[in-house]
Amino acid sequence: MQRSHFLSHIALASASAFLRPWAAFGQSQGPVKIASIRVIEFTDVADAQHRSQYVEVVSETGLIGLGGPLYAEQGYIIAKDLAPVLIGRDAMAGEALWDLMKLSDRHSRAGFYMMAISAVDIALWDLRGQHLGRPVYELLGGPVREKIPVYASMLGFDTQPDAARKTAREFYDRGFKAQKWFLKAGPQADSQSFQKNITLLRTLREELGADAELMVDCMWGWDAPYAVKFAKVVKDLDLKWIEEPVRSENLDGYEILKRDGGVPVAGGEHLYSRWEVKQYLDRKLLDYVQADPEWCGGITELVKICTLCEVHAVPVIPHGHHIWASLHVVASQPERVAPMCEFLFHWMPEKQYFQDSTITPENGFITLPKKPGIGFAIDASKVASRREIKPA
Ligand SMILES: [Mg+2]
Repeated sequence: MQRSHFLSHIALASASAFLRPWAAFGQSQGPVKIASIRVIEFTDVADAQHRSQYVEVVSETGLIGLGGPLYAEQGYIIAKDLAPVLIGRDAMAGEALWDLMKLSDRHSRAGFYMMAISAVDIALWDLRGQHLGRPVYELLGGPVREKIPVYASMLGFDTQPDAARKTAREFYDRGFKAQKWFLKAGPQADSQSFQKNITLLRTLREELGADAELMVDCMWGWDAPYAVKFAKVVKDLDLKWIEEPVRSENLDGYEILKRDGGVPVAGGEHLYSRWEVKQYLDRKLLDYVQADPEWCGGITELVKICTLCEVHAVPVIPHGHHIWASLHVVASQPERVAPMCEFLFHWMPEKQYFQDSTITPENGFITLPKKPGIGFAIDASKVASRREIKPA
């Protein structure tokens, strides 16, 4: 054998010895076929009027990926429109499935149809994680951190100044030094709303001190002139952001606040998909993007929104409607891209009621779940009955 041939033979043999075990590990295990997609309504064993709907994406191997709890409108679209598109396909082919869902209806761009896609997408990620035996944040390239900071979102708490002061102190002392309070009353509310909002905010800053992060959510209740006036009056209070001052379609209103208000502006929980977020980024309307994985197109879409926002140097702090899905995405992103999660303290117990694991932040942080998939199943001990929702 010539020397050059001998050397190449040795090289090939070495490469083959090295590659063989790697190839064995790297081989596709084949498709994970979707056997069925069911929308199930669970009834509480303690209260027959208390119910929640979830979507179950079931593999041929018997794994169940969960999405929800759902609005009834999502459940209808999933059962009628999305299930027929997906059954029999490979649950691992996430991009392909998302695209199929998106292309399955001309009205899929936004609203309940996109929210239905979002729920199925989350269920599919849960299924994939269970199949591979890894938490979803690992499938997404994380974890970047072992615990994720949250801000306390105070929707549902009393906003009378004395009550709010007491609650704010209690949460601060429990380690939640970033708090968002809801000041929905705007120009259409009573004539005293402006002064009431100012008084509440001054009370909170006075109670929490200069090191607390303080945010305001207007829930579409204001208009641009009201928001600008408010921003100027509270300039000394060092707000971290003013959120959703006007309706999402009113991009011009956001532009006025950005131009004249002098405070950071947040929004995006009601934006569907990367295309709607892009419109805001192109016009530099937001300092924080708050897309919600349960509404914007699921985990698959929120990851893309993170990439898009990173290019524009705008951090993503996801809206907390599905805290599990938000957590997995944030845990997979660099801190500068997705620094923290929102935790809605008043609503999360109900949202997680039927689940066998729940997320509860401690001292301002959520420790990452370790279970495969999203991290919870339905707690059978809480369920009196289950009923499959079928479209008429
Ligand atoms: Mg909000």
